[in-house]
Amino acid sequence: MNIILIGPPGSGKGTQAKKILVDFDFSYFSAGDILRRKARENSVLGREVAESIGSGKLASDRLMARLIEDFLAKNKGSIIFDGYPRGLNQAVFLEKGLANRGGVNLVINLQVPQRVLLARLSARVICRDCGAVFNLNTNPPRKEGFCDICGGRLYQRDDEKPEAVKRRLAIFNQQTRPVIDFFRNKKLVFDVDGDQAIEAIYKVIKRRLVKMKAVPRQ
Ligand code: AMP
Repeated sequence: MNIILIGPPGSGKGTQAKKILVDFDFSYFSAGDILRRKARENSVLGREVAESIGSGKLASDRLMARLIEDFLAKNKGSIIFDGYPRGLNQAVFLEKGLANRGGVNLVINLQVPQRVLLARLSARVICRDCGAVFNLNTNPPRKEGFCDICGGRLYQRDDEKPEAVKRRLAIFNQQTRPVIDFFRNKKLVFDVDGDQAIEAIYKVIKRRLVKMKAVPRQ
């Protein structure tokens, strides 16, 4: 079973994905995490990726295609896609890649008003080592500046500074919204109100996954 989590930056895709992974048996493709890892590599490609994501632009479809192909080759079971596809080319590419392994079964569309997104993103900090996400207003770390989980340093992503956030929201509206329509036409979209408590959102998602008979994690 293959699931896409879609929604604007700050809508809680990563947070919900991590909760799903505790209960259900999926591999996790997080486009943002994979790109941030690439961006830390001391290579021409690493520097290119760092430059584009830091300013809030998208990485190229070609690079993303390579990352997807690589992931599909290494992960044969069910997958959750978070942050991919972000444009129509990517949606078509992913459908082809999944054609002989069940296709796309569900697109979970997290809906959150723009003013809430702006507030969430400006307060978000992330662990440099394990990628855990905290929010200085709603979910602060116990010790300021350090991760509760692994003790790593917390930082604000370059692309969560105001100019980059505005650009990311604009890109979502221009390029990613058509992806939602594309899957809506195929009756695959499950709209979820993402402006609720994390647990309340997850309850709705979990109920749906149970109904679809997603395999529980052993
Ligand atoms: P995220 O953590 O999902 O918000 O992604 C962080 C950044 O990585 C985005 O703002 C983009 O610059 C880049 N990125 C993530 N997913 C994609 C994608 N599917 N295609 C191109 N760039 C992406």
